[in-house]
Amino acid sequence: MFDNTYVRLPERFYARVQPSVAPDPHLLACNQDLIRDLSLQDFLGGDRQAAQFFSGNRLPDGAEPIALAYAGHQFGQFVPQLGDGRAALLGEVIGRDERRYDIQLKGSGQTPFSRNGDGKSALGPVIREYLLSEAMHALGVPTTRAVAAVRTGDVVQRERPLPGGVFTRAAASHIRVGTFEFFAARNDQEALRALAGYAIERHYPDVGNDDYVGFFDRVLERQAALIAHWMDVGFIHGVMNTDNTSIAGETLDYGPCAFMDEFRFDKVFSSIDHGRRYAYGNQARIAHWNLARLAECLLLLHEDQPAFEAVLERFPARFDELYRQRMAGKLGLSDARPDDAVLIKLWLDHLQANTLDYTLSFRRLADSLAAEALGQFGDFGLRWRQRLAEQAADPERVRQKMNAVNPIFIPRNHQIERAIEAAINDDLGVFHDLIAVLKHPFKDQPEYSQYAEPPAPSERVERTFCGT
Ligand code: AMP
Ligand code: MG
Repeated sequence: MFDNTYVRLPERFYARVQPSVAPDPHLLACNQDLIRDLSLQDFLGGDRQAAQFFSGNRLPDGAEPIALAYAGHQFGQFVPQLGDGRAALLGEVIGRDERRYDIQLKGSGQTPFSRNGDGKSALGPVIREYLLSEAMHALGVPTTRAVAAVRTGDVVQRERPLPGGVFTRAAASHIRVGTFEFFAARNDQEALRALAGYAIERHYPDVGNDDYVGFFDRVLERQAALIAHWMDVGFIHGVMNTDNTSIAGETLDYGPCAFMDEFRFDKVFSSIDHGRRYAYGNQARIAHWNLARLAECLLLLHEDQPAFEAVLERFPARFDELYRQRMAGKLGLSDARPDDAVLIKLWLDHLQANTLDYTLSFRRLADSLAAEALGQFGDFGLRWRQRLAEQAADPERVRQKMNAVNPIFIPRNHQIERAIEAAINDDLGVFHDLIAVLKHPFKDQPEYSQYAEPPAPSERVERTFCGT
């Protein structure tokens, strides 16, 4: 069932690894729909066997586990060697959609790239990534996916001793901007050319095999669309280093990420982001910066700086356009005009000034169309009604269109923390509730209404930590 191509690239692209043994693996969650879509069902024969596979204890036929080499800019500083320090790529499968997916175990032990790390993962990051990545998928945001979560029976030492876990992830690939940087830093043009050719064939097959500017243009387009979508749903990635920037344009690495409750342009959750580099409202600027790092690598293959600069310069305007389209849709506008940027800003200023919940405010705004209750939205309310009047649509239709793109349920940080704390104590109730409810983020699910609510003051969780 595996069809591995990355391992056929030159040996300096990776290190072969052996996942470490989990003493007593138990399946915590298993994504049956995805397993079917990836044609992985042969993998499984009951929960016990699945736990053996998804902990790395047993390798499925055809798996060739490797840890990938990459570098990266972390908080603006270049680190020439990072690599998979706690992950093993088992191999690639072709899904029912005929696309190729990486199947990776995360938290399966040390690799030659582990540096001082133990190569393991605590249960918390496993549960966080499972819930967040599946929620993103259900919201329509390009992302790596959650295949399974297991508890290993190990104890891992973090700020306190914690149960260990392994997360199984499916991704379009694990090629990052940092993978290009790894070879560029070594001035290894041959490897860069092989990597670029591979990435083009795998992700942008309609781009010419040595059309590096065309490739760059497509990567940039996907990043612009991705960040616009993050902003749409109120997502803060938290660690947008170049090693976490996927060439395929997927959300990659759910470390200290979070969805915001009340709206703030400069909202930060990550405990290590002291300079607010990766704040909510800074994400497009950072993506642009990361893309400049990719262009620098590609320049080693094709010395046409003006051509790369011309593409790079398009990013801010392209992002603004994609963002405006998304936000206009959330506000019920049937088209997005350049001057709608003013209306969008007025709305967000209103949310920030009144510490309003980002997600639920869009639903309340839509519901106000039925209730004729206007006053609550201040200056914005009047301007918005005028703008809607210009498109002469039936208010009930507008309300339905808004509710189709504005979620009720997001993976709220305090609920994620609740799910983790309970799971550490062997209670998977909240985890499984959240898996179920977040599958249908736009649908009213009265039985789960508590999960739609923002945290009470005593429930607020303001800080998130990396999985390290
Ligand atoms: P991240 O913060 O997840 O993007 O990871 C940054 C780098 O640190 C990557 O090279 C990871 O593989 C490595 N790393 C993070 N946690 C561990 C760990 N527990 N053991 C070994 N390496 C780790
Ligand atoms: Mg990472």
